[in-house]
Amino acid sequence: MGLIGNTKEEQFYNFFLDKIPNLYGLFGLAGNIRAESNFISTNLQNSYEKKLCMTDDTYTTSVDNGDYTNFIKDKAGYGIAQWTYWSRKQSLYEYARKLSRSIGDYEMQLNHLYNELKQYGLIDKLNGAKSIREASDIILTKYEAPADQSEKVQILRAKYGQELYDELVNKEDTTMSNSSLVCYTGLSPNHSGARTHSIDRITPHCVVGQLSCETICACFPAGRDASCNYGIGTDGRISLCVEEKNRSWCSSSSANDQRAVTIECASDKVEPYTMNNAVYKSLVKLCTDICKRNGKNKLIWFGDKDKSLNYNPASNEMVITVHRWFANKSCPGDWLYSRLGDLANRVTSALGGSGSSNNTPSDGTMYRVQVGAFSVKSNAYNMLASVKSKGFDAFITQVDGMYKVQVGAFSVKANADAQLKKVKNAGFDAFITTKAGKQVSASQPAKKSNAEIAKEIYNGTCSDSRWSTWGTGSTRTERLQAAGYDASAVQKEVNKLF
Ligand SMILES: [Zn+2]
Repeated sequence: MGLIGNTKEEQFYNFFLDKIPNLYGLFGLAGNIRAESNFISTNLQNSYEKKLCMTDDTYTTSVDNGDYTNFIKDKAGYGIAQWTYWSRKQSLYEYARKLSRSIGDYEMQLNHLYNELKQYGLIDKLNGAKSIREASDIILTKYEAPADQSEKVQILRAKYGQELYDELVNKEDTTMSNSSLVCYTGLSPNHSGARTHSIDRITPHCVVGQLSCETICACFPAGRDASCNYGIGTDGRISLCVEEKNRSWCSSSSANDQRAVTIECASDKVEPYTMNNAVYKSLVKLCTDICKRNGKNKLIWFGDKDKSLNYNPASNEMVITVHRWFANKSCPGDWLYSRLGDLANRVTSALGGSGSSNNTPSDGTMYRVQVGAFSVKSNAYNMLASVKSKGFDAFITQVDGMYKVQVGAFSVKANADAQLKKVKNAGFDAFITTKAGKQVSASQPAKKSNAEIAKEIYNGTCSDSRWSTWGTGSTRTERLQAAGYDASAVQKEVNKLF
């Protein structure tokens, strides 16, 4: 195994990131560990150093080599969580022996801490916390339970959690960099500022034209309502259009572009939108570089929309998504689409991971959060609309003739549990199932709403006029009116998308 990170705090963060993806929960816990031991796994409670006449190190060594035999019953707080009570010290001791690790081993203690939190049923609670303070109080009162649980202590521990959050997460944001492979920078004003989600996706596009990397940047002047993070020109040179730290307007999906690095690649103008070898080579290099700088050593292509969009990547994983999943268009074209598995394998092996055989997560089991099952399709659509109106990304799947409305599928059970809790809190009667089904179209045929028309307009991109048939400016107004829509109401919806 081994821990990832340069400091104890970074290692703690990376260890818990996929177990407590809710950062309020993770940092509520972290603040308590700072208060208990400052992440020092050999920490012996100070008052006992004098009483036993031992330091952190001599105590640890003596327990390990058997010179000191009263570890379990001495009532001395020890380790990152300052385990004190005899039965808990005993289980820590037995766990260390079982793994043949030192009693002061940090990684062993992190695993033990995680196991205890699971036993106490606290992982779900942390994943459901709505603030660092709420999570911190859960740990203080239900896990650590020190003598002093006053409000003063509560505030202090939550403050530690907040400081660690600022240190580890905000620091990550400010160090977010751009690729050094870039040879031309032509920044577009078309973006939404800093991302609200960390980078864990890459979305390659076809720009529909054998353009230079400079021309790709020039496609996105003010007022164009579109952009991308990087462009790859027909000769393989790479340009920067929107800085990696910012959310570009590229894939017709705000949720996707918040977390994806978007790349427009020079291509032919018609299906299959063929790209030449220089472009493809640069795409492999650029994706490798993006993964590396964002701490990923594995690029994943599932080739399946719902699986990809509902997948919760581990902290070392990056997932490929495509524009055609979010809009009625071919992008990135069949030429690149058919090579995305190859792209993922090449990048993963360049990152030192194993390619072909290992390009999907090991265990295929997916935990699905389900809010209802219906024999009548329209009832499923009604439930779908109701769940979506509460802000959930839901879909319908068909299993054994029933239409089932689900809100996410997760490879990690704890993540499904966290989502289940959110869905229940929103007032839905939900449960978790592992049964897979056949996807059902997300929208029932109906007259288009203003929001849907707005989405079509939003989908329009630089080079291919077919991508949006509504045009811009007065042309747009005319066409919308001719089609029986309220142009200004639609425009309001368009504005909301940016
Ligand atoms: Zn595209």
